[in-house]
This record gives sequence, structure tokens and C-alpha cells, in this order.
Amino acid sequence: MTRVIESIPEIIAIVPAAGIGSRMLSDCPKQYLIIGRQTILEHSIASLLAHPAITRVIVVLSPNDVQFQHLPLAQDSRITTVTGGKQRADSVLAGLQVAGTVEWVLVHDAARPCLHLSDLTNLLALAQHSRVGGILAAPVRDTMKRSEPGKIAIAHTVDRDNLWHALTPQLFPLELLHRCLLRALDEGANITDEASALEYCGYHPQLVAGRSDNIKVTQPEDLALAAFYLTK
Ligand code: C5P
Repeated sequence: MTRVIESIPEIIAIVPAAGIGSRMLSDCPKQYLIIGRQTILEHSIASLLAHPAITRVIVVLSPNDVQFQHLPLAQDSRITTVTGGKQRADSVLAGLQVAGTVEWVLVHDAARPCLHLSDLTNLLALAQHSRVGGILAAPVRDTMKRSEPGKIAIAHTVDRDNLWHALTPQLFPLELLHRCLLRALDEGANITDEASALEYCGYHPQLVAGRSDNIKVTQPEDLALAAFYLTK
């Protein structure tokens, strides 16, 4: 394990946290909801800084954010903040602009507090041999249905073989991610995660099988589940 960590280059993490998380139906953006003694955002960032290769975290904040400055993290010299944009991809681009000249960049959702160090280590190992990078992902377990457009009725069952849930973190060469995000945004592509920008440009990032408890807190019921996983 030590040998693997030693050969991984320095990696900068970007945490897009400029969303409002409207599906959470809460008074404050979901990344500031508390689990145990910390906000979801603090748990998510702590899970990244637990790895010795991650030396700096760029947190992308909404222009209306009033909460981050009150967290102890705001005084941490490893943290840089920057203002985000309209879509997630704009926020990640804002983060990339202050990332400097580092070769690899890792992007992790602000609302994924349950990332395990073992998953992070497996993903970061890609930096030793890959040219394209990859993402943590979990194989789909349930039977998948596609609905009729505009209706709540089944159109057909989608074959779940070779189907994965895309998770974060996602790890890419900084220069490649920057180029792909710019092109995808410029050409109006639908970009829901960083990997989609690379796919749009013809690349095939690696899937690294990760734990399914690396959930994104999205709906109110996810909060209790995340709290449970964090105590395990
Ligand atoms: O809304 P959703 O959960 O898909 O957002 C994923 C991540 O992207 C969250 O961490 C959210 O704060 C971030 N985001 C952002 N800038 C936006 C929209 C979302 O940083 N404009």
C-alpha cells in the first residue's frame, strides 16, 4: 500500500459546491446540512484529504454562499475557494482555472460524504498508467426501465448488463478535462459529470468498481442513510 501511494503524483481535488440542491427541500444548500458534528461538505472534503497524494482542495462556491466562511475549513491552508457558474461544468471549469500546472485533477461531489479511502486509493492508482483517467462506478443491480417520453408508463426494460452508476470522485489529466469541458460546453452537449465531457470528445475513461455506499445526498431520506454509513 505504501509503495502505491509513493508513486502517485501530487493531485489537486476540485469540489463543486455551488449547487442549491433543490430536491432536498431544505432551508440551506444540502452540502451544509449536518451529519454528526460536521456538515456534509466537511465530511466530503475530509475523505479526500485523508489521502496523502491530495495536497490541495479547490472548493467551488455559489456567489450567494454565506456559510463556507464560517467553517473551520475556511482557515485551512490546503483549501482554496473560487466562485462557480450556472451549471456544474461551469463550476468545475472555474476550479480548473485556479488549479495551476498540476498534471492530474480529481473532481468530487460536495454531497458525497461517505467515500472510503480504499476506493479513493484504487481510483488514484490510475494516475500511474492511464492517459485518460476514470471514475468510480457501481454496477447496476436493479432491473432498469425506460419510461415512455412524457408519461409514467414503461416503454421497455433496459438491459442492465454492462450498465453502471457513475459516482465520484472522477480523475482526469487536467489539460484533457479542461479541453473536453470547453468543447462540450461550446457545442451545447449535455454534460452531467466530467466523464461525459470526455466521452463527448471520443475518449473512454476507465470504470473503477467502487462501493455502493458512496451515495450522493439528494433526497431528504438520503440523510439518515449517509449518517448510518458514516458511523460504520
Ligand atoms: O445537483 P447535483 O447533486 O447533481 O450537483 C452535483 C454537484 O455539483 C453538487 O456538489 C453541486 O453543489 C455542484 N454544482 C455546482 N455548480 C452548479 C450546479 C451544481 O458546483 N451550478
